[in-house]
Amino acid sequence: MKLKLLLSAVLGLVLLGSAFADDLDEIKKRGTLIVGVKDATPPFGMRNPKAKTISGYDVDFAIAIAKHLGVKVVVKEVESAQRIPRLQAKDVDLIIATMTKTAEREKQLDFSYGYFVTWQKFAAPKGKIKTVEDLANANIGTVTGSTSEKHLRQELPGANLVLFADYKQAFAALSNGELDAVSTEEPILAGRLGKMQNKDEFEIPDVSISVEVYGIGVRKGEKRLLKEVNTTIVGMEESGEAEKIFDRWFGPSSQMPLLRTFKIGAK
Ligand code: GLU
Repeated sequence: MKLKLLLSAVLGLVLLGSAFADDLDEIKKRGTLIVGVKDATPPFGMRNPKAKTISGYDVDFAIAIAKHLGVKVVVKEVESAQRIPRLQAKDVDLIIATMTKTAEREKQLDFSYGYFVTWQKFAAPKGKIKTVEDLANANIGTVTGSTSEKHLRQELPGANLVLFADYKQAFAALSNGELDAVSTEEPILAGRLGKMQNKDEFEIPDVSISVEVYGIGVRKGEKRLLKEVNTTIVGMEESGEAEKIFDRWFGPSSQMPLLRTFKIGAK
């Protein structure tokens, strides 16, 4: 009888334990951190055709966080509109995919502190766009489920929005003359522009419609994992690793030199 009681107590504890296992426990037990990243959004995430791997600014953050947790990193490609559903479906543990922190998204997931700050702009044929008014009735391409789509609806209600699954497709349409402009954050525009064959015909005028702070998406309520992510990225700022990653992709000798106007901290 005593043995039976003891066994059921042990079983109860085991069940209780697994019921309380959170994402951090599961990642450590599994030995891998699965991160959703972009694969056609240079220099944040791009597929290397030969090695079939994905690299970029976002991927470097995924690698650093996995290292901090003492596990291996696995990256999976996610498109903008799939980010939140794939996180909620537990297909990935984190989203590090050019995702802007917004109050609306924060109802469905939790965000880390910001790890990149940028602006929404336009890529257009040279000399065509001088002010935002020039785009009032334009055909503008962007990606479904992005904040870029949302801001265009707010700021340019008379424009004709053409939606794509990713920025590669949007730029193919721009290149073919089907669009007057593509709009999203400046480094994404510059990254895709750099891949165009007729890139000399296009530019990114100094016309901005919003400031965007990117955050790392964690499943809602996963407090311990969120804390580890924030501790890692703040530590990366303090050690200089975050600046090194920025310089790798946006430094003076990169394909897309940018000024680092932000520091990673508690916000
Ligand atoms: N940062 C914006 C967003 O989170 C646009 C870039 C993207 O589609 O990934 O939606």
